[in-house]
Amino acid sequence: LFFSQQRSPLLEVKGNLELKRPLVKAPSRLPLSGSRFKRGRDQMEDVLEPEKKRTRGLGTATKFATSHHRAPVITTVPQTQGQTAAPKVPKKTGPRCSTAVAPVLKTQKAGPAVPAQKPDTAAPPKLGGKKPGKRPAWDLKGQLCDRNAELKCYRERTQTLDQENQQLRDQLREAQQQATALGAERKTLEGELARVRAQAEQGQQELGNLSARVLELEERLGTQEGLVQELQKEQLGLQAERRELATRLEEQERRLQASEAALSGSQAEVASLRQEAAAQATLLAEREERLHGLEMERRRLHNQLQELKGNIRVFCRVRPVLPGEPTPPPGFLLFPSGPAGPSDPPTHLSLLRCDERRGTLSGVPAPPTRHDFSFDRVFPPGSGQDEVFEEIAMLVQSALDGYPVCIFAYGQTGSGKTFTMEGGPGGDPQVEGLIPRALRHLFSVAQELSGQGWTYSFVASYVEIYNETVRDLLATGTRKGQGGECEIRRAGPRSEELTVTNARYVPVSCEKEVETLLLLARQNRAVARTAQNERSSRSHSVFQLQISGEHAGRGLQCAAPLNLVDLAGSERLDPGLALGPGERERLRETQAINSSLSTLGLVIMALSNKESHVPYRNSKLTYLLQNSLGGSAKMLMFVNISPLEENVSESLNSLRFASKVNQCVIGTAQANRK
Ligand code: ADP
Ligand code: MG
Repeated sequence: LFFSQQRSPLLEVKGNLELKRPLVKAPSRLPLSGSRFKRGRDQMEDVLEPEKKRTRGLGTATKFATSHHRAPVITTVPQTQGQTAAPKVPKKTGPRCSTAVAPVLKTQKAGPAVPAQKPDTAAPPKLGGKKPGKRPAWDLKGQLCDRNAELKCYRERTQTLDQENQQLRDQLREAQQQATALGAERKTLEGELARVRAQAEQGQQELGNLSARVLELEERLGTQEGLVQELQKEQLGLQAERRELATRLEEQERRLQASEAALSGSQAEVASLRQEAAAQATLLAEREERLHGLEMERRRLHNQLQELKGNIRVFCRVRPVLPGEPTPPPGFLLFPSGPAGPSDPPTHLSLLRCDERRGTLSGVPAPPTRHDFSFDRVFPPGSGQDEVFEEIAMLVQSALDGYPVCIFAYGQTGSGKTFTMEGGPGGDPQVEGLIPRALRHLFSVAQELSGQGWTYSFVASYVEIYNETVRDLLATGTRKGQGGECEIRRAGPRSEELTVTNARYVPVSCEKEVETLLLLARQNRAVARTAQNERSSRSHSVFQLQISGEHAGRGLQCAAPLNLVDLAGSERLDPGLALGPGERERLRETQAINSSLSTLGLVIMALSNKESHVPYRNSKLTYLLQNSLGGSAKMLMFVNISPLEENVSESLNSLRFASKVNQCVIGTAQANRK
């Protein structure tokens, strides 16, 4: 009961202390200053130390400690007071009460208090658990005495306790003051703490920002490092490249030096070569000069030779017997060899003719009449185109030297005129005629002469004269196949040159172009033939090639036409044709049949006789060929002969006509030079 009464103030202190504990303990985290506080803290720690110990051990041995700790509390009193007391041991003592009291007492009575660790040594005889001497029941006085002593002891004790209580109250007050001060300080500190926290937060934030910045910088640093590595790699590559280039440069320099050395060598060589070239050029010029002199001499001699051969020459060509044709009797045509023997080219031809009329009249078969002819050259059947051309090549070449050349094919239809001029069928090179061969020859010689400074150009035309009308055989497109409309005119008012209006004049420079033209002419002729049969045999085909040459270096020019004429069939010509002066009237009569052939004969005769008037204008043919007949012109006539006996009469006529022509000598040819 006593304990329960006394407990309340203690509990209060204890409660206060307990409440203050966090405040007391808190300063450990805060900056502490002031001796007073330190002292208080020491005191508080002294006060609290046993409490701490108690609470630690409490969980495990509460009950056990109850009896164990009670002893010191009780024993302290008699030691202090020097009296024995036997207070009733409370049945239940709260650990807080007993334990709290002990430290307080111990603290307050530091000097006189007996240490609690020695309870057993000074245990009072009456207050201990044992009661050594129990007074007999009858000793009431003794008992009363005991009770009084006991009471006195309790009173003293109460007094002491009151003092203690008062001390404790003072202490409590002081502690409360301290607590208040501490509270104020705590507030200050809390404010400071808040500020510091805010600062810390700000710092934290700054730190965060800085971390982010650091991260960013690190990242950039990483990128930069990658870049740096890349650059380093690139630098390495460039260095390697540079080294390589330097090596190459060195190599190039070496080569350049070598080249320069070679160049200087070459330059010396070039200089010597130039000297040599100059010497050569001088030599060449001399040689060119000589060559030109020789060329001119050649032309002169060539012309002389042609003149010696005659400005009018006649070649006789007998075609072979064709398959299916009757074989002529032996000896019908003879080709006696020349004075030099079989190796000499034939120039004679003999034709045997049986005059049936004479035989029938006398009753006895008359011996065949032999007709001998002599020409500049005779080609028996089997003579090849090349062989024939060989004979006229030089004549053709005269055209390049500026002499007009005219080559005729004369003879009856089917005697081989077209074959001789244009060639055989099929485009076989072996049977190529004079026209393609002549042109090829001209092109090749012109090419050779170009080395001597001559430049040649060739313009071709091909016309047909039928019944005194001129038709262009090279016509194309709408004009193709249509005859006429072509007129022979002077090229200019004062020009001697003649031209055919509406006819194509085609520049040619190669064989192929000539082939194309000949093919075109053949097609045009074929178209015409359907309209009128036998036309080709009654018309003349005139292939004209205008040749112009120029030696720019020497200011020389030459121009001349080459005419290759496939004449109309001569079969209608009066067999009794004669070119004597007394027979001119007869000849004119036959002009109705074949005026142009007659006129040709008349023209040749007039030229031969050097008559003042040459009837060129009497036929289109002679008019067109005016500049290629007579004067400076060279003429060649092929007389084509059929080998057949049935054609003997026409053959004789042709041969006679050709013989007459052959006898003509036309003045000295003059080259058309400017
Ligand atoms: P023309 O033009 O005089 O009327 P052609 O040239 O048309 O005569 O010849 C008549 C035929 O005889 C043609 O079939 C031709 O191929 C042929 N012929 C002419 N001359 C020869 C020759 N020298 N060799 C072979 N065949 C020829
Ligand atoms: Mg013909």
